[in-house]
Amino acid sequence: MRTSYSALDTYKTCPLKFKFQNLDKVRVPKNIEMIFGSVVHSALKYMFERVPLYPTIDEVVNFFRNKWDDKMQVFQGEGVEEKKKIYYEEGISILKNFYKKNQAWNFNVVDMESRFEIELEDKKNKEKHVLTGIIDRIDKNPNEDLYEIIDYKTSKKMPAQNIIDHDLQMSIYHMSLIKRWPHLSPDKIKLSLYYLKHGEKISTFRSGEQMENKKNDVISTIREVQDRISNNYNFPPTPSPLCGWCGYKQMCPMWKHLYQSQISSVKSQKDIEPIIQKYFELKNENQKNKERIDELKTIINGFMEDQKIQRVFGQEGYITRTVRESVSYDMEKIREILEPAGKWNEILSPDEKKLEKLLSSLPDGIRQKIRALSTVKNFSTLTSSKRKIEK
Ligand code: SF4
Repeated sequence: MRTSYSALDTYKTCPLKFKFQNLDKVRVPKNIEMIFGSVVHSALKYMFERVPLYPTIDEVVNFFRNKWDDKMQVFQGEGVEEKKKIYYEEGISILKNFYKKNQAWNFNVVDMESRFEIELEDKKNKEKHVLTGIIDRIDKNPNEDLYEIIDYKTSKKMPAQNIIDHDLQMSIYHMSLIKRWPHLSPDKIKLSLYYLKHGEKISTFRSGEQMENKKNDVISTIREVQDRISNNYNFPPTPSPLCGWCGYKQMCPMWKHLYQSQISSVKSQKDIEPIIQKYFELKNENQKNKERIDELKTIINGFMEDQKIQRVFGQEGYITRTVRESVSYDMEKIREILEPAGKWNEILSPDEKKLEKLLSSLPDGIRQKIRALSTVKNFSTLTSSKRKIEK
C-alpha cells in the first residue's frame, strides 16, 4: 500500500474522513485556515532562499502579502473579510517574530520542502508498503555534529514534551533521514517542531529501538486500513471537535442532516421535524420519570430493609425485592489448581472481542479465512444531545 503520514494521521482521527480523502479521492475546497498554513510555510521557505542574498524582512512580508491576496480572492461573503484580516495580521506577526529569532544566515540549511519515500516491510504478510511525506526543513549543525529536522506548526495548541517524544510524524521523518543517509547514527538526528504562534521550538530524539516499535505501529495501522477495505469498505465516522474543520461535513452521515434540513426540496423533511420534536419531549419526560422512580425505589428498599420483608403490596400490584449474589474468582490462582487436574480447558470459552483484537496481528491468509467465517449484523442505537449546533 502507498500512503503518507498525513493520511495515516487522518485515519486515526476519523476513518471516514480518510476514506473520503484517500480512497474515494473526493476533493473539497481548502478553507482559510488551510491556506493560511500553506502561505506561511511558503514565506518561511522563501526566507531561507538565497538568491543571491537572503531576503530582508520587508521582502518576506511582501512575498506573504502577494501570495495571500492571490489565494484569498475566492473567499467572499458575510464575516469573511474580518476573518481574513485576523489571519493576515497573524501571518505578518508570525513572520516578523520568526525573522527576529531565526536569521537565515545563522543556519546551515541542507534542504527545504524535502520529499521522501520510505519502504516498510510487513514480514508477517510478506508485503511492502511505501510511506511518503514532505519535510519542511533540514539543517546541518556542524558544531554539534547533528542533523536537525524542523517541522513548522501553525496550530495554537502546543503539546507536552512526552507527546512529542512519541510523535509518529517525527518518527517517520527520522526514518526518512536514515534512508537518505544510512551512515547516520539515530542519535545524531534532532527532531524539532516549531510552534510559530508561540515562537517556541520543541525538540526530541529517537533511539534505534524506538524506531523499530514505530515501524511496527505504522505497519499495524496499514493492516487495519487494509482490513477495513476488504471488510466492505467499513470506515466509520468518528465525530470530534475537529469536525469543525472537516471539508466533508456536508456529505458525512454524522452532519449531513444539519445541512439538508435547510433544503425544502428534501422529501419528508417536513414530516420528520415534528417527530424529532416529539422524541425530545418524551425523552425529557422519561428522564424526569426515571429520576423520580429512582427516588421511590430508594424509599421502598429502605422500608423493606427496616421491616425485614421481601415484598410490598399496593392497590396497583406488588413489588418484590430480590438479592442476587455476585461471585468473582482470582482466575490466575484458579488456573493453578485446575490445570494440573486437567480441567482448565473446560471453563475456557471462545471470546469474540479477543479474536477481533488478535486479527490485525495475524497473517493475511489466516485473517481472510477468519473474516470469511464471520457474520456481520448491524445494531442501531439512538443517542441524543440537547446542544444546539450552528452550521
Ligand atoms: S465531519 Fe467529522 S465525523 Fe464526518 S468525516 Fe469529517 S471528521 Fe469524520
